[in-house]
Amino acid sequence: MVHLASVKKDHEVVPLASLKLDSIETIPAVDDSNTYSDNIYGSRFAAEHLPQHEMPEREMPPQVAARMIKDDLSLDGTPSLNLATFVTSFMEPEIEQIMTESLSKNFIDYEEYPHTVELHNRCVNMIARLYHAPTDGEENAMGTSTVGSSEAIMLSVLAMKKRWQKKRKAEGKDHSNPNLIFSSSVQVCWEKACRYMEIEERYVYCTNTRFVIDPKEAVDLVDENTIGICAILGSTYTGEYEDVKAINNLLVERGIDCAIHVDAASGGFVAPFVKPELEWDFRLEKVVSINVSGHKYGLVYPGVGWAIWRSPAFLDKDLVFNINYLGADQSSFTLNFSKGASHIIGQYYQLIRLGKHGYRSIMTNITRVSDYMASELQKMGMVLMSQTRGNGLPLVAFHLPPNADREYDEFAIAHQLRERGWIVPAYTMAPHCDKLKMLRMVIREDFSMARADSLLEDFKLAIQTLDSMDQALIAKYQIHKRAPRHRHDTHAHYKDEKHSLQGKTGKTHGVC
Ligand SMILES: *Cc1c(COP(=O)(O)O)cnc(C)c1O
Repeated sequence: MVHLASVKKDHEVVPLASLKLDSIETIPAVDDSNTYSDNIYGSRFAAEHLPQHEMPEREMPPQVAARMIKDDLSLDGTPSLNLATFVTSFMEPEIEQIMTESLSKNFIDYEEYPHTVELHNRCVNMIARLYHAPTDGEENAMGTSTVGSSEAIMLSVLAMKKRWQKKRKAEGKDHSNPNLIFSSSVQVCWEKACRYMEIEERYVYCTNTRFVIDPKEAVDLVDENTIGICAILGSTYTGEYEDVKAINNLLVERGIDCAIHVDAASGGFVAPFVKPELEWDFRLEKVVSINVSGHKYGLVYPGVGWAIWRSPAFLDKDLVFNINYLGADQSSFTLNFSKGASHIIGQYYQLIRLGKHGYRSIMTNITRVSDYMASELQKMGMVLMSQTRGNGLPLVAFHLPPNADREYDEFAIAHQLRERGWIVPAYTMAPHCDKLKMLRMVIREDFSMARADSLLEDFKLAIQTLDSMDQALIAKYQIHKRAPRHRHDTHAHYKDEKHSLQGKTGKTHGVC
């Protein structure tokens, strides 16, 4: 996650030359002040600290600045070995080049870039149809691109809240206490949405054996102040699909007017190809809006997402702005104004380059790799928490078998794998699950069977190493493991655990 960086207090500013050279004899620098040199590591910059707190007074040659930044970033993890995330780490070079050429295009300049807008609208059309949106005139779906699912969810929650408020106002009823229902395994953006928009969060808590929403419990929580129920197509924790149809049918049976929003951030580009018969989308009458992350299984680099509404009836006119600053009349429903156009272009490329067959073959392959990983891990005694055979996202969520004698936990395994470059997150399950620790491996497009074999080898090795380690060493490992976190620059004001989302709800942020 991105940390809110705090501005250093003056007395904390570390002088650039913080090496204590007065106590260590060193040789004088070569005086090259009058000569131009393109020798990066021979320049004075290579022997100086990089500017950190104050913008430097003078320029730096571009190749030096670029190299220094590249070297610094080389200590980050490798995206393709990062099994913590659903976010795309591979695109074809043909489109990478076009995306790079489009970096300077501002998507909001509709008048100036009408063809980009056209590609955007085609994406909305294709995605809405993939979700069986009604297109028969009376109900005509609408949609927009966003920066990711979080923005799409903010917009969808806003639309649900507005619709509820208008209805309550029209009935002359109180409209000051909206609530929203979801399972405690929602992604953190739902809690953000509720807090930013002052909506009561109503949780259906997970249990030690159920890691998704219970449809009946969810519908039982509905009252006159409920603006909607969120169902997740692909839980961030275990990849399971929540039973949208059961929620829909209960609402219909009981004659309750309540909207369902489906958070299909990850599953929106998996389920339609691997489980086309699964009814979770606009085929269900109570589903009013859906979000999906283009940058997850939509196969585009971060950040692009999509929000689709069943019909204009669910997107109040008051929320959509018509603007003509930039030459053409345009309507806009986004939280921001300017944004890059590259990712929208990238999404259109993936949709037409791969087609349904292409997406189906990729999603089927990674589901098979994920099932293979699941069965191999199970053979090693691991306890699976995720589904297989396409009944959930292509990921393996699992924990160690119960064993009171074992000195190490899932976090130690994650640390051990990290030494080989693999980023496999360990975290605790959503609240009310007895702080169940787990590991999760997300399988993405560029994770082939060969790579799965390498990871399984390293996993076995990690277990063997930990089995043979004594307790003192494991304890030392755990301190080492936490150390890098402390290097992050989080403002002291926000360190209070009671303030943070994690402190309030037990949510883990290390996965996305
Ligand atoms: C990733 C994710 C989000 C947030 O999406 P971004 O595109 O990262 O903003 C929301 N919900 C679920 C279920 C997710 O997996």
